[in-house]
Amino acid sequence: MRRRFVGILICIAFLPLAFAFKSAPEFVQRKGVKTIIIDPGHGGKDQGAKGAITTEAKICLEIGLKLGKVIEERFPGVKVLYTRTTDIIPGNKPDKNQGLRYRAEFANQSGGDLFIAIHANSARKIAHRVKSGYRWVGKGKKRRKVATYKTYYTPNPAKGTETYIWAADENTHKTDMIKPDDEFGEADSTLVMPDINDPVMKAFQLLYAKKYFENSLHLATLIEAEFVKEGRLSRGVKQRNDVGIWVLHATGMPSVLVETGFISDRNEEEYLDSDKGQNEIVGNIADALANYIAAKEKAPASSGGKGTDPKDAQTNAATLPRKDMPKARS
Ligand SMILES: [Zn+2]
Repeated sequence: MRRRFVGILICIAFLPLAFAFKSAPEFVQRKGVKTIIIDPGHGGKDQGAKGAITTEAKICLEIGLKLGKVIEERFPGVKVLYTRTTDIIPGNKPDKNQGLRYRAEFANQSGGDLFIAIHANSARKIAHRVKSGYRWVGKGKKRRKVATYKTYYTPNPAKGTETYIWAADENTHKTDMIKPDDEFGEADSTLVMPDINDPVMKAFQLLYAKKYFENSLHLATLIEAEFVKEGRLSRGVKQRNDVGIWVLHATGMPSVLVETGFISDRNEEEYLDSDKGQNEIVGNIADALANYIAAKEKAPASSGGKGTDPKDAQTNAATLPRKDMPKARS
């Protein structure tokens, strides 16, 4: 209680500064959900993960557009906006990072109440090193036989869904947040994660943690629950602590990133590429959204839904032990 009071005091103290901080997202908590931003991942020259028959960018766009249509049908009065509706880098930006920046800016400037990013996962093939024979090395007395090895690869069995939310309490890895070859940003990019050591961002973070984090976690949990009902394998609600996710950090609204399945698994790829699979995924997200909106309309404007204690994030985080979770990129 005391901590909450101090938190509120800090927020109030920095509020005027906050308005002066032009690159910070706008933090306005509104009751209900009026505008939903759908962000189909990748696009244009950034095709994301490549499968055997399709690409992540194509799947994300197809699911994103279908989701928008279903939301408009099921929730009249809710405005749907897309960061892209064709196979381009959003905003027709020249590179992926500028596209990422655009996605967040677009969402903030459009006054979104909710941000839903759609992605598909990919897991690297598994390398197996086996003895293939011998060869001779050295000369004279030192001549000796050494084993030779060869490597072969088998498909990675990783599959299932996972939904990411912002790691709200992750303050210490700011400098590591963008890494080379990471799908959400590159090391030499102009993307700089909000500096949470900055007192203004600290104030934002308190607001963020209190309002948006709970809502993001709530929606993410509902989405994974719907996937489970559909019979999918859920890898759970996750936070990425080692590398930040730009579109989740930089959007001033509750935000989730849905990894709809593994494009590297042939069965899941076919599912993700099919009308049946896409319609099921869209139905699952829309059902979760219905529960989320219903809970939000019942709740006072300043609080999140039920069962959204941020502490649950870690316990809900995975249905598989971390060590068993194949490393994924998408
Ligand atoms: Zn992706």
